[in-house]
Amino acid sequence: MIQSVLFINPPSLPGTTANREGTAGMGVTVSTPRGFYYPPQTLAYGIAVLREAGYLVGGVDAVGQDLSLPATLVLLRDHVPDLFVVHVTPQTWDADVRFLQALRGDFPHIPVLLIGTAAHFIPHARWSPWATALLAGDAEWGLVQAVRALPDQQPAAGLWYAHTSTPPAPVRIPHHPTLPRPAWDALPTDVYPFLSLWGSRGCEHTCAWCPYRLGWGDSRRVRDPQEVAEELVWLAQTFGKPRHIFRDPLFAAQPEWVRTFCRELTRRASPPPPWEVEDRPEHLTPDLLHQMARAGCTQVKLGLEIISPSLLVRWHRVPDARAAQAYIRAAAQAIRTCRKEGILCRAFVLTGIGETEEELAATEAFIQEHKPHYVSVKRFVPYPGLPSPPELSLPEERLRAWEERLQAHTYPPRPSWRHRLRRIWS
Ligand code: SF4
Repeated sequence: MIQSVLFINPPSLPGTTANREGTAGMGVTVSTPRGFYYPPQTLAYGIAVLREAGYLVGGVDAVGQDLSLPATLVLLRDHVPDLFVVHVTPQTWDADVRFLQALRGDFPHIPVLLIGTAAHFIPHARWSPWATALLAGDAEWGLVQAVRALPDQQPAAGLWYAHTSTPPAPVRIPHHPTLPRPAWDALPTDVYPFLSLWGSRGCEHTCAWCPYRLGWGDSRRVRDPQEVAEELVWLAQTFGKPRHIFRDPLFAAQPEWVRTFCRELTRRASPPPPWEVEDRPEHLTPDLLHQMARAGCTQVKLGLEIISPSLLVRWHRVPDARAAQAYIRAAAQAIRTCRKEGILCRAFVLTGIGETEEELAATEAFIQEHKPHYVSVKRFVPYPGLPSPPELSLPEERLRAWEERLQAHTYPPRPSWRHRLRRIWS
């Protein structure tokens, strides 16, 4: 019988940082120690649901605490549970398997359950020697059933036993789920510069370069905006972080949801706590950005990607050339409005999708003209389930030079008393 459960975010490989929450659970390995990583939200919600179900639950974030593999194992010896739940991802698998091998060596009789929204993209032959089972999909929604099913090897939604090679359908969180507050208190929140939360998961768009639909699903599910506003206020009051980052791939896909959320937030807290979101350009209308700014939104990550109608169509970002023109106009307007409303705008550009020098020059000209505060450039990664990268039309060194050049564009905000006064009095 399982009574106690220990959740683990395994240590990074030496000299790197394992960001297991990154890219919808596909994970990212950052090639520097103590690099950027999202606090382990999967653990915080997972611990909360098992706690609510009556289990004795703890958490170890070896990345956050900067623990080496031996130090992590020493720590575990003082907290041996009935079940280990380990967060793993395709892109951090080298670090994950090193930890799982050591865990199996030190605790051969304790069952191990792997979690992660994209963990089921790790080939069965790789993980099955080191774990009892893998829970595919949204862990917080499948964990209670999975933990109940494990001792007798019973079936449960999304549960993939090591002895079965056929993967199950991932368990997906539904619309308007009821969730307990995330158990950040079980994790080393003092070391996190910000905390994260979510209001929606999944995306119904069809951009062929996108791993988010694979990790979080291709149907969008939302939480109640009142509940999300309440959670944000609680996070701010309990942990006092200066930043709260929404992990939704499309925060503003439903304007009415955003309006309700903003209204609920300003009703609950004055001033409202700061929060940050990401989205594609068409959703970020001036009216919505205005309301978001008044409700405490401080930063928008804008999926600009590339200024090329033909590439936007070819990769199914938009349906046709006309929609591509509307998309580019919407991006320009979103950047302008962010500046006007005092919201930091970080434009994300995608490379490695078969772009030409002319298309990169058009993207640079757009950035120079519209001046987002910051630019982040990401190279296309053929995550499992995505198409192979196209033949690069530019040599690697040319592309890298373009990436550095685009990334170097920064137009930080200038302090403006006029703007601050307008925000206070509007
Ligand atoms: S809109 Fe964003 S999240 Fe949705 S498929 Fe396109 S890139 Fe992915």
